[in-house]
Amino acid sequence: RAKEQGKNNYVVYKSIKSEGLNQLTLENSLRKALQNNEFELHYQPQMNIKTGQIFGAEALLRWNHPKIGYIPPNVFIPVAEELGLIVSIGEWVVEEACRELAKWRQSLPELRVAVNLSARQFLKQNLVARIYEIMQKTNTPAHCLELEITESMTMDVEHASEIIGQLKSLGVKVSIDDFGTGYSNLYYLKKFSVDSLKIDQSFIRDIVVDDNDADIVATIIAMADRLGIGVIAEGVETEEQLNFLIQHGCDSAQGYFFYRPLPAEEFRAVLR
Ligand code: C2E
Ligand code: CA
Ligand code: CA
Ligand code: CA
Repeated sequence: RAKEQGKNNYVVYKSIKSEGLNQLTLENSLRKALQNNEFELHYQPQMNIKTGQIFGAEALLRWNHPKIGYIPPNVFIPVAEELGLIVSIGEWVVEEACRELAKWRQSLPELRVAVNLSARQFLKQNLVARIYEIMQKTNTPAHCLELEITESMTMDVEHASEIIGQLKSLGVKVSIDDFGTGYSNLYYLKKFSVDSLKIDQSFIRDIVVDDNDADIVATIIAMADRLGIGVIAEGVETEEQLNFLIQHGCDSAQGYFFYRPLPAEEFRAVLR
């Protein structure tokens, strides 16, 4: 997958170059992208694998550049982080996801939306206040909003547990993304009182053929269960992977086997 991602990024870089966009002009167009309305969110359904029902979606950011077309987040988010633009982009993401959620909730009031936070955003002083303002403005019930953070953001245990504690007292859900790829310690997860963890797709990919990966995933599911933490498997692409997860008691999953990330209208059509 890393190879495939690398190839995709290469294709994008090549087209960025052929448009005469060097790093500097890429940065300049990224600075203007927000006010020019060039960002959009796609939504990947999250499935309850016991019932087969959609319980929510993860919002994934897309930059629709007027000349280049879609630029994937792995290409522009690191640049946006570096330029400090990620905080305002990230706030737009939360607000846009909440506005979209309000539409879904007209027919399905218990649906949830999950949003990725960047490291900078997570460490920003006013994060909790901004999230609260956005929830008020968009009329979002806290339990319908989930924030995804990564293990690397929890290195400073004291600080992370304070922020997570504040988010929890707002009532929003917090999940640990890409679980297993970073500094992992299930004990801290319990201490942080996160609601769920998302098993990284690099572990899911080979669960059916690699005994080690199978053992790791089965163990994560069992331990999370003991600790009362939910588990979402990421990157499920085959029925065999899904069957393994069901057999081992995993609650939920997302991946191409069910749906790719969909533009907002298409996700709404799936819900109907
Ligand atoms: P992530 O949060 O781990 O998101 C999962 C990625 O895996 C998404 O890539 C998704 O399209 C892809 N994916 C989903 N199902 C499958 C599958 O079955 N197989 C495979 N091979 N891939 C699958 P995407 O959309 O390109 O996003 C890449 C990363 O960019 C995300 O990884 C996340 O770290 C970051 N990102 C996306 N949106 C945002 C955002 O709004 N804010 C921040 N800070 N980061 C974001
Ligand atoms: Ca994520
Ligand atoms: Ca992930
Ligand atoms: Ca990832």
